[in-house]
Amino acid sequence: MKRAAALFAALVMLITAQSCASSEKTADFFAMDTYMSIKAYGGGDAVERAETLVFELERKLSATDGASEISAVNSAGSAKVSQETAELVTSALSLCELSGGALDISVYPVTRAWGFTTGDYRVPQEAELEELLRLVDYTKVTVSGDTVTLGEGMLIDLGAVAKGYAGDRVTELLRSSGVKSALINLGGNVQCLGRKPDGSRWKIGVQDPSGSGYVGVIEAEDEAVVTSGGYERYFELDGKTYWHIIDPSDGRPADSGIISVTVVGASGLACDGVSTALFVIGKEKASELWRENGGFEVVFVTESGEIIITEGLSGRFTPSGGREVSEVIRRNEN
Ligand code: AMP
Ligand code: MG
Repeated sequence: MKRAAALFAALVMLITAQSCASSEKTADFFAMDTYMSIKAYGGGDAVERAETLVFELERKLSATDGASEISAVNSAGSAKVSQETAELVTSALSLCELSGGALDISVYPVTRAWGFTTGDYRVPQEAELEELLRLVDYTKVTVSGDTVTLGEGMLIDLGAVAKGYAGDRVTELLRSSGVKSALINLGGNVQCLGRKPDGSRWKIGVQDPSGSGYVGVIEAEDEAVVTSGGYERYFELDGKTYWHIIDPSDGRPADSGIISVTVVGASGLACDGVSTALFVIGKEKASELWRENGGFEVVFVTESGEIIITEGLSGRFTPSGGREVSEVIRRNEN
C-alpha cells in the first residue's frame, strides 16, 4: 500500500513537471510606445527575460529618450555606439537603399515637426517642410566601426524598424531557451516561433484599418507578420486625417492610396522596414519591389477597402466577414 502511494506521488510529480515544462506563460506590457504581448510555451523564465530585453533595446534605440545611444548620435552628430546599434543602423540603411529612399531613417526632423514623436500635433507650413527636407538624406549617414556619423544638422530615428528588430531578438532568446512554440506581438509587429502547441499553424489577424476586427487571417509558422497602418498613429484637423508615416519626397503623410500594408517573411527587421516603405510608395511600385526581391509576401488594404495580396499568400490568407481578395499580384505579369 505504501509503495503504491509512493508510486502515485511520483507519477503526479512527473506529470506536473511535464505540464510545467510546456505550460503557457504570457507577459503584457507597454514599451516602444505601444502595447506588447509575449506568449510562450515552456522555456522557464524566458518570457520575463524577453520582456527585460525589449526594455533594454528601447533604452538603447529610442530617439525620444535623451539617454539612448541614438540620442547621443543625434545630439553630437557623431558618436560611438554599441556594436549592436551600429549593426542595426547599417541594416536599416540597406533597407533605405532597397526602398529607393521611401524608408529614410533621417526623416526624423520632419516627423518631429508634425508632432508625431511628442503628441503635440500640428501641420507644418510648406516653407518649414522645405527647410527640414534638406536635412533628410540617409546616404549622408555613415557607420564606421562602432561610430555612427550624420551630415550637418541631421537626426535619425529607428522607429520604422526597431520593433521588427526587437521581435527577431525576442524570438532568438525564446528559441535558445528551449521554447518551441511562441507568439510575440510587439504592437502590430507579430512574430511566431514554430507552430501552435497543437501542431497547427498560428492564425494571425490582419487588422481592419478602418474599423475594428480583422480584414482576414494569415496562417504562419516561424515568421514575422508586420503591419504598417495609418490607423496606428494619427491626428485629425479640419476634417483631414494626418498619419505618422511620412513620404520623404515631400515631408507629408504618405498618400499612396494604401491604408495598411502587412509584410510576411522570415526577418522581423526586414519586414518592418519594408512595410513602412511599401506604405509610402503604394501598390504599383510596391509590386515592382516585391517582384525584384524575394523573401517576403504582402497584404495591402486600399483606401477603397480593397484587399490585394501577393501570390505567395494564396491558400494561406483567408478574408474575414464576407470580404474577398480583389487582386492577386503575380511574379510574372500576364
Ligand atoms: P512603422 O510603424 O514601422 O511603419 O514605422 C513608422 C514610424 O517610423 C513612425 O512613427 C516614424 O517614427 C517613423 N517614420 C515615418 N515615416 C518614415 C519613413 N518614411 N522612413 C523611416 N521612418 C519613418
Ligand atoms: Mg516599419
